Amino acid sequence: MSKQILILAGDGIGPEIVKVAETVLAQVNQKFDLGLTWQHGLLGGAAIDAHGSPYPEVTSQQAQAADAILLGAVGGPKWDTIERSIRPERGLLKIRSELNLFANLRPAILYPQLADASSLKPEVVSGLDILIVRELTGGIYFGQPRGIRELENGEKQGYNTDVYAESEIKRIAKVAFEMAQLRGGKVCSVDKANVLEVTELWKQTVTQVQKDNYPEINLSHMYVDNAAMQLVRAPKQFDVIVTGNLFGDILSDEAAMLTGSIGMLPSASLDEQGKGMYEPCHGSAPDIAGQDVANPLATILSVAMMLRYTFREEAAAVAIEQAVGNVLDQGLRTADIMSEGMTKVGTRAMGQAVVNAL
Ligand code: NAD
Repeated sequence: MSKQILILAGDGIGPEIVKVAETVLAQVNQKFDLGLTWQHGLLGGAAIDAHGSPYPEVTSQQAQAADAILLGAVGGPKWDTIERSIRPERGLLKIRSELNLFANLRPAILYPQLADASSLKPEVVSGLDILIVRELTGGIYFGQPRGIRELENGEKQGYNTDVYAESEIKRIAKVAFEMAQLRGGKVCSVDKANVLEVTELWKQTVTQVQKDNYPEINLSHMYVDNAAMQLVRAPKQFDVIVTGNLFGDILSDEAAMLTGSIGMLPSASLDEQGKGMYEPCHGSAPDIAGQDVANPLATILSVAMMLRYTFREEAAAVAIEQAVGNVLDQGLRTADIMSEGMTKVGTRAMGQAVVNAL
């Protein structure tokens, strides 16, 4: 099997956190003799500056040749005013859809050492371990028609289209049920079937997939407004949550905050063969870029997910996760997860501590 990784640092804090994650990757590669090789490419604002496009042809070719991609984050104020169709975030949507990365896995796990960093009471969140499975290449983020048009009366009107075909719903439901088989055996499908026809079909299709293929899985359904409420009221009731692109985007950020910091959460976006793009859940955080204060752990944990899901190197993945637990046990904290009595460290020092723990 070829073991090629493409590293796309992106913008803002992207280059800082990815550089640190790369040192962790190099360490596990050597320690576990994984035989991984990697090269670098450009995506987002950095690619606009160099090639005039957020996802240039050269990056597309590199991405197609790679088995896995490690991404920092893209975007920033520098590119916020350019034409919408070539903004950095469009590059991200394009690479996800070109590579057919339809399944976005976002674990929200609360490290016990960080129970105090959560805005919820420790007893509500301690031991939290949920997995949000978000559909990533369909729904309202991609649906046509879309745009801003001028009405006859001269007023402007913005419009988007939320669409899901049965086949798209079936394949993401399958991923959710298979993940649940490896975990607590429960799936909650989130929709707004009381108002939106597209999610009425979602609900029917997920129900059918469970009935036909996964009768042992405990499937429940919840409206998105209730799910948003339940996530802060009693988050531990969930095991796997499966939902569409828009609801998944919002709920996964909400779940992220339950764990104290978005700087702790990795994600994986997979195609049907297991090729994947791995990235932290957060954005490019331009407000703290270049200051050596960003938390690199989400990106480091994304490397662990890459080893687990694309390269099937479970021992190496677990070693990274344990090393992260170990540095938290040592009391090391970046600013975003800092609490009293702990030792504040910067991005590079946190990365070095993980390498040392490995
Ligand atoms: P953001 O996630 O970048 O930042 C939100 C807040 O969280 C900020 O206060 C930031 O400082 C903090 N934060 C984020 N990551 C952190 C880390 N690792 N350590 C410590 N603190 C961290 O979201 P935003 O401010 O809404 O967006 C900023 C830019 O990122 C925008 O251009 C947006 O389009 C882009 N974005 C990119 C992605 C991606 O590349 N996948 C995702 C979301 C947003």
